[in-house]
Amino acid sequence: MSILKNYIDGRWSESVSKDSIPAYNPATQEVLAHVPSGPNTAKDVDQAAQAAQKAYREWSKVPVMKRVQVLYHLKTLLEDNREELAEIITKEAGKTRGESLGEIQRAIENVEVACGTPMLMAGDIIEDIATGIDEMMIRQPLGVSACITPFNFPGMIVFWFLPYAIATGNAFIVKPSEKVPMTMMKIFELLDQLDMPAGLVNLVHGGKESVDALLEHPIVKGISFVGSTPVARYIYSKGTAHGKRVQAQGGAKNPVVVLPDADIEMSSKIIADSVYGCAGQRCLAASTIITVGDDKGVIKDALYETVKTRTTGYGLEDVDMGPVITAESKSRIEGLIQKGIDEGAKPLLDGRNTKISGYEKGNFLTPTILENVALDKELIKTEIFGPVMSLVHMKNIEEALQFVNNGSYGNMACLFTTSGANARKFRNEADAGNIGINIGVAAPMAQFPFSGWKDSFFGDLHGQGKHAIEFFTQTKVVIERWPNIWSRKF
Ligand code: NAD
Repeated sequence: MSILKNYIDGRWSESVSKDSIPAYNPATQEVLAHVPSGPNTAKDVDQAAQAAQKAYREWSKVPVMKRVQVLYHLKTLLEDNREELAEIITKEAGKTRGESLGEIQRAIENVEVACGTPMLMAGDIIEDIATGIDEMMIRQPLGVSACITPFNFPGMIVFWFLPYAIATGNAFIVKPSEKVPMTMMKIFELLDQLDMPAGLVNLVHGGKESVDALLEHPIVKGISFVGSTPVARYIYSKGTAHGKRVQAQGGAKNPVVVLPDADIEMSSKIIADSVYGCAGQRCLAASTIITVGDDKGVIKDALYETVKTRTTGYGLEDVDMGPVITAESKSRIEGLIQKGIDEGAKPLLDGRNTKISGYEKGNFLTPTILENVALDKELIKTEIFGPVMSLVHMKNIEEALQFVNNGSYGNMACLFTTSGANARKFRNEADAGNIGINIGVAAPMAQFPFSGWKDSFFGDLHGQGKHAIEFFTQTKVVIERWPNIWSRKF
């Protein structure tokens, strides 16, 4: 199997690096690809940056109404190829077919919203701000921007940025996760069909070395990152130190509060989907479930009944949940479960040591539910990123809110209730960038920023919608005086 090619300056080319690392199917351990890696990938980044700079000069002068025409074409291509894209995602990231299709749908919605760029990037003007003087604010592209994506949404996250970047007149470089390179290969096959200058979009593979090269490259003006918190923090500090505009979305630990007045049947189904969807590998996965009030047994029983019927297996088959991404990830999750049990948690369901018939080598865990989890321990504080639910109990909404706000992350907090007053209190007082009220995965639609607070986000402007338009443009203020030649006497 040959090493994957990059896509630079409008064509597929071999990496300068001869080093590579394998990417696996997490259900079968089949090697899907060899991904370029090592220090020489920095040379690929330089080639991509030079090509992008050249394309940017041409593209930024193309009228915005013409620029968005390529997005209409891209939308059609994504729609026509959604089944194939979903299959690739399932093979390399382990999701179920439905989860993979959902991911592509959100990618398409971002393209649709970015088609509104001709209006979204409009500026402001005040005529006669002083006598005979007009002042305006216009938005111009940043230049060349790059995005670095994580493994868990190989087909969606790039679309939080790319369509907005090119519609506003930028050129773009993508560095996908080395664990899931194949979806991006297919996406670039589609991008290759668009009527854009060579070098406008570029794909560079690799790991830390290619990321560092992007962070240091003088041509690259903007960095969009999505991944774990330690790397997000590093990207933000290094990128800004090199004078770049940076948006870095990090990890999460999402609490869900269930009040005694919640609709138990509905809540338990939604919460189970949130915890176990994508095998818990979502930055918006519910992790700690806080039951409130005297009747904690009711929601616990309902959750148990819902969760125990969920099936696990290869995502191309008819199952509710696929594997986690790597064998290391599986053993890390199993270690966290054991630690929680050692520290006093009681397993209602224990998903360790799972073997799926026909896929014995796969990284499978079935759903785990732990109750009486100690509040000050690792299981409650660490992002597990696996199919594990921790149940804790609290007296009232105040205590639950205090717990929510004490956490170091701030990606999502959810409340289940039938009380408008409690919902309003939670919405106002919970310290998280995405709030769900009777919603288990509070994922912002493409019109809204993918918010995140505290250790879940470093920067000012998020991905998607108007935030993305602002991120990829810089404002210029022009103040003009035109002598009134018509009042002169000739
Ligand atoms: P990760 O941080 O390991 O990797 C993300 C990207 O950074 C990859 O492209 C990788 O090659 C690169 N990278 C890894 N280590 C690096 C280093 N030391 N220096 C420079 N670059 C490096 O993340 P992951 O495991 O691929 O993804 C899972 C994480 O992403 C979870 O923490 C999840 O919560 C988070 N995530 C957050 C959001 C959000 O919107 N906040 C969305 C999806 C995923």
